[in-house]
Amino acid sequence: MASYDYDLFVIGGGSGGVRAGRLAAGLGKKVAIAEEYRYGGTCVIRGCVPKKLFVYASQFSEHFEDAAGYGWNVGDSTFDWPTLIANKDKEIARLEGLYRKGLDNAGADIIDSRAELVGPHEILIKATGKTVTAERILVAVGGRPNPHKSLPGYELCISSNEAFHLEKLPKAIVIAGGGYIAVEFANIFHGLGVETTLVYRGSEILSRFDGDMRRGLHKAMEEKGIRIICHEVFENVEKAPDGRLKATLKGGEILIADQVMLALGRMPNTEGLGLEKAGVELGKKGEILVDDYSCTNVEHIYALGDVTDRVQLTPVAIHEAMCFIDTVYRDKPTSPDHDLIATAVFSQPEIGTVGMAEEDAAKAHEEIEIYRAEFRPMKATLSGRTEKMIMKIVVNSGDRKVLGVHLMGPDAGELAQALGIALKAGCTKDDFDRTMAVHPTAAEELVTMYQPSYRVRNGERVQS
Ligand code: NDP
Repeated sequence: MASYDYDLFVIGGGSGGVRAGRLAAGLGKKVAIAEEYRYGGTCVIRGCVPKKLFVYASQFSEHFEDAAGYGWNVGDSTFDWPTLIANKDKEIARLEGLYRKGLDNAGADIIDSRAELVGPHEILIKATGKTVTAERILVAVGGRPNPHKSLPGYELCISSNEAFHLEKLPKAIVIAGGGYIAVEFANIFHGLGVETTLVYRGSEILSRFDGDMRRGLHKAMEEKGIRIICHEVFENVEKAPDGRLKATLKGGEILIADQVMLALGRMPNTEGLGLEKAGVELGKKGEILVDDYSCTNVEHIYALGDVTDRVQLTPVAIHEAMCFIDTVYRDKPTSPDHDLIATAVFSQPEIGTVGMAEEDAAKAHEEIEIYRAEFRPMKATLSGRTEKMIMKIVVNSGDRKVLGVHLMGPDAGELAQALGIALKAGCTKDDFDRTMAVHPTAAEELVTMYQPSYRVRNGERVQS
């Protein structure tokens, strides 16, 4: 029997790779994990975590305004970008330390280097030039922002990566894209006082979400003062004589800003990884193709997380890692469950959602019932804020199963987590109806909408 340096070599120290490496090492396997940048990956280093800290920072401007209606005089407030960046960096360094510590405590070899495949079982450690061997290899190298190289002037633009380290807060920013990242950053920059414009190619932002969420958020963002231009794309981006940036849209309009950010999706980090040397098959976008158990076409090479382009979310990568461990090291073949994933968009107002959008449910079922409420959250009464909260439940008329719940408003992300459990358990609308309300909360609306607002039968909206 061949002998290898390691039982498992993990390439990539993000959420998925670290979880798999730590668990495998904890089971007594000889594990190495290599990361070329920083442990924690996109989520911890330049994604979810610093983004959420920025979201908190950007919410204070509204909190200060809201306080007046409750009798508080906050006085003049100022915001200091370098303080936020420094404090965020400190917290990220602390979290990175925890990731390393977890791996170290479990007994994994932590390698601070890029690693590339040079054969089916051989991995080259770039920093040392040494080649090691492993019985199994797990590729969890994640993805990176699409640089959109076909855009003239793309090199003048930033992505979310750079947004976390800008030396100066821009006075004005133009953001391209209408997905999670574009929408979240538009709200962050606006909340920090930056003049913000969003340019999206489609008819409405957040293309994969329920229509009410998309329209509701668009309206709320515009009411705050964020400019949203739909049906538009950039023609080019140039440097203006005064050093600012000039983004010209296909339709001819010129937008002047200090930064232009591209948030046009992310691509798998498979370039130059040597996957072809190991015979691993890739898909059209460069993603690693895997079976139901995260195994590639090469029996001993697995891949998980964003590099497989299944669902680009941190908890999904972690779940896939745990399934990998069960399958490979616990003799319990488990395929990741990608059904009914609750998710949040940390826009302002926030969106929380689980299950089918009305538009998708209407196509999949003969008749659906829509329960919809739009109201001013209680806190807004004294603060005078006009922003509305939207709650929507999508129900299959046939068996009363709740197919989807969509929320826009304060704490929608927190609520989505709890609703995810209910939907995963297969709750029906009757289960919602017999659940006692928690009063006074906004969420009580979820269990007190007894009559459908309307039905959709064979794709046509009918009054109930
Ligand atoms: P998304 O896929 O969410 O959005 C990409 C956006 O770019 C879409 O609006 C898309 O338009 C647009 N786009 C793509 N290509 C072009 C093009 N050639 N020209 C013009 N517009 C284009 O990607 P993000 O980059 O925002 O985020 C990446 C992933 O990261 C998300 O899918 C999500 O899974 C994850 N993420 C999750 C977060 C969370 O959970 N809160 C936060 C941030 C990221 P169209 O819709 O028309 O295709």
